[in-house]
Amino acid sequence: MRWCSSSRWRRRYNATSQAPSPPPLTLRTDRLGERAWLYSGFANGNVLALVADSGLLLVDAQSSKRVASLDSALQRLPRSDVRTVINSHYHPDHIEGNALWRPRGARIVAHEAVRLEASTDTIIAEYGNWHRTPLPDAAMPTEWIRDSLRLLLGPDTVRVLHVPSAHTNGDLIVRVTGSVDLLHMGDVLERAAPPFIDWWAGGTLDGMIQAVERGIAWSTDRTVVIPGHGPMTDRAGLARYRDMLVTVRARILERPAGASMDTTMADAITAGYADQLGGVRSARRFASIAHYGMSRDVRPSPSRPPSASATKTLAGGTIVIFGGQRQEPGARPPLDELWELSASGWRQRSSGTR
Ligand SMILES: [Zn+2]
Repeated sequence: MRWCSSSRWRRRYNATSQAPSPPPLTLRTDRLGERAWLYSGFANGNVLALVADSGLLLVDAQSSKRVASLDSALQRLPRSDVRTVINSHYHPDHIEGNALWRPRGARIVAHEAVRLEASTDTIIAEYGNWHRTPLPDAAMPTEWIRDSLRLLLGPDTVRVLHVPSAHTNGDLIVRVTGSVDLLHMGDVLERAAPPFIDWWAGGTLDGMIQAVERGIAWSTDRTVVIPGHGPMTDRAGLARYRDMLVTVRARILERPAGASMDTTMADAITAGYADQLGGVRSARRFASIAHYGMSRDVRPSPSRPPSASATKTLAGGTIVIFGGQRQEPGARPPLDELWELSASGWRQRSSGTR
């Protein structure tokens, strides 16, 4: 597997040129509240850590290369025992690190589409022979969400919502309220870098726009909005990002059917947004990937059967699939299952609105 950030894109689309060295690890720590920390470093994905009496909850798990560095950083928190991990989607820089936390007893939550996305071996020939290798069994999530889930974590409520067909088809966005006011958007939102649409795993630009709309509707003027990669922003920043996506989509649709992408066309499609997209070259990359999927019938890549372990674990009944009722973007957040996380484990509470 490769990264879902700009470095991966560069390697894939400039395959004939000398690939730049990956950027060095620059792990940065931001304290976002009494119990919340953000670990960021470009190209590695942003990890949110929430401390509770029941242990540590992480949103995203880092790559296998970086997870040890994250683990070291977490040792400085009041609690460093990772008990719960939420994977925003199946790309390796967000999910590979599960292999460190799972043997230590962490429950790892992902959308049920990830079970297939992360367990298939595919080569996307038309996309620089992108080889997507299966996630090792040891890194597989242990719990699956169909639509939404709500977790009580000390004074905080952690709401997890599936946003379909966005960056992939298995994206989760995570809202935390209580002692903090946070929204982790996963790679539905990438900042200072080109957003990426994984058309081969069911991602779409339309779905990404709808997912951002949901994030806007779900946040307040005080919400700290965390992207999958890049610096934090707020609801206004999320709205600017939505406006950019909508404009780019409209400009692509104005192009004649069958128009091929070149730099002139890419610059026209993203005119006015180069800074927001991390520079002219990043803007061109985003124009290319957006145009790519909108101008052809990209279907999720043919997949081999899920790995034996994924099937076996499901058949063994050890995995909980959380339900919930899907609603349209902009509607009230759905009723979702409510679980309280305590030192002794998960306990289901009656559901209700909030
Ligand atoms: Zn990604």
